[in-house]
Amino acid sequence: MSNITADQILAWIERYATRIAEEKDYLTKLDSDIGDADHGSNMHRGFQAVLAKKSELQGKDIGALLKIVAMTLISNVGGAAGALYGTFFLQASAVAGTRTELSPNEFLYILEKGLAGIVLRGKAAIGDKTMVDALQPAVKACKKSIEAGEPLSQVLTKAVAAAETGLKSTIPLMARRGRASYLGERSIDHQDPGATSTYLLFKAAAETLV
Ligand code: ADP
Ligand code: MG
Repeated sequence: MSNITADQILAWIERYATRIAEEKDYLTKLDSDIGDADHGSNMHRGFQAVLAKKSELQGKDIGALLKIVAMTLISNVGGAAGALYGTFFLQASAVAGTRTELSPNEFLYILEKGLAGIVLRGKAAIGDKTMVDALQPAVKACKKSIEAGEPLSQVLTKAVAAAETGLKSTIPLMARRGRASYLGERSIDHQDPGATSTYLLFKAAAETLV
């Protein structure tokens, strides 16, 4: 199976920044339904700040690259999602260390640690109507596909499908974590913004890591 290079990880982050820019208004609309209408602008501000560091990111090992992404998000994004995505990339960077390439298994380990960091910090479980509802099934799908020996393209295709199913599963749920939980039953019948941005993260991965 082919490895993922540091250049590809950077391309992934750049592609995600572009997708966030394109979907900024949509993400903010989703957050206006069950939150405070800032998820799109939060994510956009964070990833534009990451893009501004492109020359610093080029040529770095994967751990250093992901650490800059994490710290940039943490320091530029207010709101729950900035801290949570920051934690995701910080945990990922610790796993990647000085590697300049990742095997599919190492990439899976990064995702698992990133997910664990988000869960530790945000205390959300599946069904709480958060980004975890998209992230956890996507990571699980990666694991299953890698264990079945499937090529990375298929691994990521399955992860995207699982993230999409997970994101749609948030619609009928009542939020139990984050700002949307203040709405109680009024949070039902709305798609979670953070689960939506997580789905876009996997879509960007499928477009750049193979
Ligand atoms: P804020 O809620 O502070 O305004 P954002 O609007 O940027 O921050 O992000 C909201 C998203 O963050 C939610 O849609 C949800 O997916 C995610 N989120 C909020 N709290 C948690 C949590 N405790 N655990 C996991 N995800 C969470
Ligand atoms: Mg918000």
